Amino acid sequence: MALTHEFAWSASRARGFGECKRAHYYQYYGGWLGWDRDEPEERQRTYRLGKLQRMNMLTGNVVHSCVARYFREKPQREMEAEELSEMAADMLRKSFRESQEGLWRRSASKYTHLAEHHYQEEVVRDRAAVAEYGGGFVQRIRDCIRGFFESPDLAWVREAAPDTYVHVEQENSFDSFDFEGTKVFGIPDFAIQDARGLVHLYDWKTGGPSKNDAFQLHVYALYADVEWEVPVERFRAYDAYLGKRQVVACEIDEKSLDEARARIRASIEAMRELHFNADEGMGDATPFPQIPANSPEARTCRSCRFRELCDR
Ligand code: SF4
Repeated sequence: MALTHEFAWSASRARGFGECKRAHYYQYYGGWLGWDRDEPEERQRTYRLGKLQRMNMLTGNVVHSCVARYFREKPQREMEAEELSEMAADMLRKSFRESQEGLWRRSASKYTHLAEHHYQEEVVRDRAAVAEYGGGFVQRIRDCIRGFFESPDLAWVREAAPDTYVHVEQENSFDSFDFEGTKVFGIPDFAIQDARGLVHLYDWKTGGPSKNDAFQLHVYALYADVEWEVPVERFRAYDAYLGKRQVVACEIDEKSLDEARARIRASIEAMRELHFNADEGMGDATPFPQIPANSPEARTCRSCRFRELCDR
């Protein structure tokens, strides 16, 4: 079945839209259909750039994938910290090599392509630089996996019977739910039900806290209501900062949920104003302004995957 371009919202899209509308255009409009080699080169190039990752994103994905693996394996066997840590470090190294060897040229959607390689950044200029830069991420992976196994607040989760799991993240899943007629993407990491019937949702974090963390958990609360029929009274949500062994509970009630709904509505409205059907072409990027080059916000451009399109 052919994919059709449609409007969708997610908390991360909203964050990106707030940071730079031009990057939003490239990601969701300019590069749409760019996987098709019959499309104009400009569109294919934008699509390929949209697939670029950075090492910190890759590290987060690897840790998520390995923690999910722990829960999926649990019915058969209990994986140990060292095994999972090695598995995660190997995944990171494999993806790094894929990018270094340029396998993405065969398929940008299948193989990792790092922005660090594409833009020939200093951090990958030679073996010594790679060892230092990559070593930092391998260490972060080890800290996070150890944090998962050693955090006292996660003990009950690690020890729980698999039949109490409500949700375990699946590889390459693009889960969505309906919010007042708009498709909303939001894939929870893990949720579990306790003996009292409360559902506890955990969002695994490989970095430090950010101002959007609580909002993201509110979006999951809406997901839980729609998809699992778990009302807010029975829902608990936590940010688990694995590297710090810190689990932070988020206060969610009807009032905060209403505020989140209002914020989502406003964000959807702002995005819809600029929306067009990219199945019909790349459209006009002008209504999606760049960040002014000499503004303080332009520091975002330094790590933007599209920076060559903006001459930054
Ligand atoms: S380089 Fe800067 S202005 Fe251009 S898309 Fe990226 S963040 Fe926006």
